[in-house]
Amino acid sequence: MSSSEKQDLLKTITMKELKEICKVNGLKGYSKYKHNELIKFAAKNLKISLPKLKATVEELSEQRLVSKIKDSEDYVLRKVVNIESYDDELITATVGSHKLKLYNFGTEDFSYICDGKCPEYIYRVKHGRSPFCKHYPAVIAELIYEEKLDPTLTQPNFISGQRLEAVHEIVEKRRKEDGIVKSSGRNIEDSLKNIREDILEISCKNDALAREKYHETAEKVFKTLVDECFQLLEYETVFNRRNEGWDLLLIGTNAPKPYMVVVNCKPVDSGSYGTHRNPKFVSNLKNQCIDMCKEQLMGVYRDYVKYMVVVAPDFNQDVIQLIPEFNEISGGVKLSLLPISTLLYLVENYRENPILTHYNSECLFKKDIITTEDVDELFKKSEEHVEELTSKARKVLRDRMTEISKHNTDSCYIKIDEVFLQRTLEEVISTLNPYLLKQGMSEFTGVKNVNINHDYYLLWERVLKGLTEEFTEILKEQSLLQIQRSALKEDVIRYLGI
Ligand SMILES: [Zn+2]
Repeated sequence: MSSSEKQDLLKTITMKELKEICKVNGLKGYSKYKHNELIKFAAKNLKISLPKLKATVEELSEQRLVSKIKDSEDYVLRKVVNIESYDDELITATVGSHKLKLYNFGTEDFSYICDGKCPEYIYRVKHGRSPFCKHYPAVIAELIYEEKLDPTLTQPNFISGQRLEAVHEIVEKRRKEDGIVKSSGRNIEDSLKNIREDILEISCKNDALAREKYHETAEKVFKTLVDECFQLLEYETVFNRRNEGWDLLLIGTNAPKPYMVVVNCKPVDSGSYGTHRNPKFVSNLKNQCIDMCKEQLMGVYRDYVKYMVVVAPDFNQDVIQLIPEFNEISGGVKLSLLPISTLLYLVENYRENPILTHYNSECLFKKDIITTEDVDELFKKSEEHVEELTSKARKVLRDRMTEISKHNTDSCYIKIDEVFLQRTLEEVISTLNPYLLKQGMSEFTGVKNVNINHDYYLLWERVLKGLTEEFTEILKEQSLLQIQRSALKEDVIRYLGI
């Protein structure tokens, strides 16, 4: 078994991947080496056959290419890919500020160039270290999207199997966003299942799991799973696909006063985040939420940015101690720390009992470190809130009905005219404003309208059940109380002269 052949193989993978191979194969004492020494050390000491190592390395580079394709998604979804000309010999396209030329596409004589400013193309593709830069799959996806390319007829160069699947996923997403394909609705069960099974492991940077199941790095998968958590909590989210800056933005659209939360995801292999990894922790966070988010927004939207949340497996004491420092320099934005176990607890409880509103949940972001006790407290408060709303609505209904039945009831009917009916309904509805619905007025017609929040269906169920109960009780009371004759009986008696 040749150590130099192994060395050649190990040279083609990254330091991180190399360390992972050492770890998985139970090799001890590898962490002290720098890259070149590590290659030599691993080639000499790894107890793994050459064919097996070859297969592992090939699989790793395949996964790297698949995740590169996934990275190109951003271009396609932001619609910055432009196919400028298309024929058998030459395709020219721009991807953002990059210009690509594809020669003899789909044939053995294929070659492509990505213009001078693409470092990946210059340093990797041109030297044969990688077949393509991330701008290339963006062009392929756009070609398929625009129906200029049918991969079942023309095999796109370097893109087949898993890679082609990844490209198809991008096209599908774009079609959904453009409304060309009707989305089949939300797949809540699958998201929840993945989160339950993997989020703790992924938060501790389990790259092998991330690669095998999701074909991406643990960092990316962690960000995606955290995003899905907040979506399951009915927040609107903005996902930052770039590697710099904040990771997610949560929008508490349904609160009477909307608010935004800037989220930073920090997976850590040790299982607890500490600032020794990042002495500029406070100023980096401030930079993310103020310079890269708040300052980029306009007018009233700036005031919506009220909270910053860091999500990690857990936090060391030194991070908790830095919270006041951040709060002092952040111009009113409050920092809070969210351990992944708390987030999971929150999501699971919410999916069982979806009674939280953006309005009630806002109190979580006011905590320094969010604990499961805070989540319990939030659910308790939300129960009280829905009780209160229900009893207010019931009271309004009862007051109005009592008022009308005093004067307009006989032995059969409580008589209500349209005007009274409308007034009563409006009064009941306004007890739920702005928590379960928002009352407004059309700018153009001046007609009053009500926007009912469908995410709060369970709260609606509670309130409506309460109202039904109240209404039935009122009818029952009247039925037992009324001795006054009906109008019909009065008439009959009058005609008969009895
Ligand atoms: Zn490129």
